[in-house]
Amino acid sequence: MDGTAHHEQAGVERPSLYVVATPIGNLADITLRALEVLKRVDTIAAEDTRVTARLLRHHGIGVPLMALHEHNERRAAQKILQLLAQGNSVALVSDAGTPAISDPGAMTVAMVREAGYPVVPVPGANAAVGALSAAGSAALHFLFYGFLPQQAAARRRELAALKTSPYLLVFYEAPHRVIATVADMTAAFGAERTITIARELTKLFESIHTCKLGAAAAWLAAAANRTKGEFVLLVEGATEAGAADTGAAQHALEILLRELSLKQAVKLAAEISGGKRNALYKLALEMKKTVKE
Ligand code: SAM
Repeated sequence: MDGTAHHEQAGVERPSLYVVATPIGNLADITLRALEVLKRVDTIAAEDTRVTARLLRHHGIGVPLMALHEHNERRAAQKILQLLAQGNSVALVSDAGTPAISDPGAMTVAMVREAGYPVVPVPGANAAVGALSAAGSAALHFLFYGFLPQQAAARRRELAALKTSPYLLVFYEAPHRVIATVADMTAAFGAERTITIARELTKLFESIHTCKLGAAAAWLAAAANRTKGEFVLLVEGATEAGAADTGAAQHALEILLRELSLKQAVKLAAEISGGKRNALYKLALEMKKTVKE
């Protein structure tokens, strides 16, 4: 590995924007380089300055903060461009984990790059990668989805679209929606796929539970603390045969349902795709429900 230049250089260049990962729970999960950069930049742009102030206090860092969140990102990014134009270096952090991953930051990074200033990643904690590292899935590939839509109909549409994906699916979810989301996943993907529910990673009540999708909602509901905190959900992808079958059957059903009754559409789709009538009937009902909502 030829990393000498960066290895020796824990300091910061001016002007530059540093995109710095911060902990997702455990305050010790911050890299030595991140601490060094946060100490040496001129300004830190933070999603919530109160959250970041706590982290900085913990590490004895007193650099000035400015707010950069989803509601002011364009304006805040323009301020960062001014700071860079004056020869300053700026760090960008979010409340937890890696900025721009289901968090603000991408627009700022794009604007700074467009203006020709260096953007330097300082990688570290990320909830999805943490969950993947401890789940023990044999999958070679994964698809990071992040948050599903909050509205049930839109969420079910997204899940229907993901049904044939062969990749391990990685979702973020809020505690008050986790049971509904897992139930929708079961309806969309079937009860047999494996799910890993990774909760409160790196924190006091960390738990990582693997089960069949069909058993997940009941497991979550069985104890009050199982639906508390922050969640990453890892759902096994479609098997190759399953994906091909369902893909063809779903396509046939989509076309037939436009013209025929549910019963006729299911009968013909089963003949065309070679799929099972029962399963196609359920799929057709699900598709009709999604269209109505
Ligand atoms: N940028 C962050 C990252 O790099 O992972 C993600 C920010 S996103 C707004 C917050 C979501 O990430 C939470 O709702 C949850 O789904 C997931 N998450 C964050 N911290 C977590 C933790 N300690 N354990 C499990 N999931 C977590």
